[in-house]
Amino acid sequence: MLNLKDLNYRELKNWVVERGWKPFRADQIAKWLYVKKVDSYDKMTDLSKEIREYLKENTEFSSLRLVSYERSNIDGSIKFLWKLKDGNTIESVFIPEDGHNTLCVSTQVGCAVGCKFCFTTKDGLIRNLKTSEIVDQYLEAQRFVGNENRISNIVYMGMGEPLANYENVKKSVQILTDKRLAGLSNRKITISSSGIIHQILKMYEDEEFPQVRLAVSLNASNQKTREEIMPISQTNRIDDLMRTLNSLPVKTGYRIMLEYVLLKGVNDRPEDAHRLARLIGKNKKRYKVNLIPFNPFPGSPYERPEDERVLRFQSILWQYNIGAFIRWSKGQDISAACGQLRKKEVERVVKIS
Ligand code: SAH
Ligand code: SF4
Repeated sequence: MLNLKDLNYRELKNWVVERGWKPFRADQIAKWLYVKKVDSYDKMTDLSKEIREYLKENTEFSSLRLVSYERSNIDGSIKFLWKLKDGNTIESVFIPEDGHNTLCVSTQVGCAVGCKFCFTTKDGLIRNLKTSEIVDQYLEAQRFVGNENRISNIVYMGMGEPLANYENVKKSVQILTDKRLAGLSNRKITISSSGIIHQILKMYEDEEFPQVRLAVSLNASNQKTREEIMPISQTNRIDDLMRTLNSLPVKTGYRIMLEYVLLKGVNDRPEDAHRLARLIGKNKKRYKVNLIPFNPFPGSPYERPEDERVLRFQSILWQYNIGAFIRWSKGQDISAACGQLRKKEVERVVKIS
């Protein structure tokens, strides 16, 4: 069944006109869905009863059902577990921060990329999410936390590789940034990729892909280590990746974020930090580095470095005047760390199905 959140503005308007309704009905529907964020068609009071009935019968209101949520007592972050229509489950994480709120969304059920430190990829890729399943994560989470906790930032850093689900992710970004639809600021949306070079280039060349921020999971400072922990690096080599990133037409205010998961004894030594600084070289205005201490999961082959090692790594980058920030995982008490989702859920999926 059609979900209206699978349509961008142009498609929504066409769809409305095809039904024989006046074009402005599209704007009314959009307002109820994306601005008022109502939870049912019945609340769309300025639509005729006939249109409301048609929508109820022929479209799906939401692609997600909330199965459970956990709120962190430490920092207030909330991890949502949603059930999709086919029974698969995905997660999003709401992260309150000083002055703004961020939602981390998933783009796939599972992931095919196979990074050794990542739990999402354990069972490979199950399927891509539809556009509506991405957009509904935002709408449902916003309804849950209420208007007083407005979500202003979206990071595509949950389950899955966004650029491996290119078309659906692209349309979700169109919907989220369109002023006539959700109207979020382009600068407040970040797409995180494991570094698939041709897909990054495609995104930058695609005029229909709204300009948003790019984050790339670098995770190592040389080819050998990167290949060990990220098999995708065999074909997307670190030098080629950096050359590509150095050449992207990045607007001011849209610095590229290099993500770096710190794995004890693997990539967190002082020499790794120095090498990372050299890799960035003279392009330090173009990047900021996000250091993410590894979040262990049962059976994971790596360890989380002690806080001192993390701080030392950061201070070395600072010596080179590289902007480096540590992402101390949010909601550790609920294992809500964005990018390390589906930890406990796998057990829970078994329980509900
Ligand atoms: N597939 C995309 C986005 C999802 S992963 C990507 O790889 O960028 C989001 C981030 O979480 C990535 O930077 C990834 O390196 C990080 N991550 C994955 N597993 C992690 C773990 N166990 N501990 C800490 N960070 C992890
Ligand atoms: Fe996929 Fe990202 Fe996990 Fe790598 S880190 S397996 S790309 S979700």
